[in-house]
Amino acid sequence: MAGGEKVDYVFKVVLIGDSAVGKSQILARFARNEFSLDSKATIGVEFQTRTLVIDHKSVKAQIWDTAGQERYRAVTSAYYRGALGALLVYDITKRQSFDHIPRWLEELRGHADKNIVIMLVGNKSDLEDERAVSTEDAKEFAEKENLFFLETSAMQATNVENSFQTVLSEIFKIHS
Ligand code: GDP
Ligand code: MG
Repeated sequence: MAGGEKVDYVFKVVLIGDSAVGKSQILARFARNEFSLDSKATIGVEFQTRTLVIDHKSVKAQIWDTAGQERYRAVTSAYYRGALGALLVYDITKRQSFDHIPRWLEELRGHADKNIVIMLVGNKSDLEDERAVSTEDAKEFAEKENLFFLETSAMQATNVENSFQTVLSEIFKIHS
């Protein structure tokens, strides 16, 4: 969207999950339609934006990406402040990244808005041969915890758009 056009809503959405699950590439895919196989660890807290139209309103999504703090479990409360949505990401080929999801969820629920919209995201669905987390297990967990759930591939651009669209539309329903 060109500068100067009006924005009706700005929604902050945070990306969380273990290091190397693909958070930065999911964001690159959504914000710029880019993907890189040798993505550098993110330096400094940063966010990217993309403006889309929901229900004839212009909605600016401000998507925050962690700065490698996930390695030290040191994501600060400033990161979560004001977030209306979250993508809680694990890697379908790394069991440990799924096993850590309850901790991330607890941290998220401890810091964020009580109405926060959360999407559980199983990334790297293109690596089916290396799968270590079944779709069923993840779906069951998501249902139990009242989360949306999708498997994505930032590499193949599968379900990335869908994940953000779902979260943003749900935020829109709650806050518009
Ligand atoms: P982050 O630490 O969670 O931000 O993870 P990155 O976005 O930096 O990704 C970590 C590594 O996984 C990089 O080498 C990416 O290229 C790779 N990666 C990210 N998404 C995918 C995906 O959907 N499929 C595959 N095969 N690799 C991915
Ligand atoms: Mg990153």
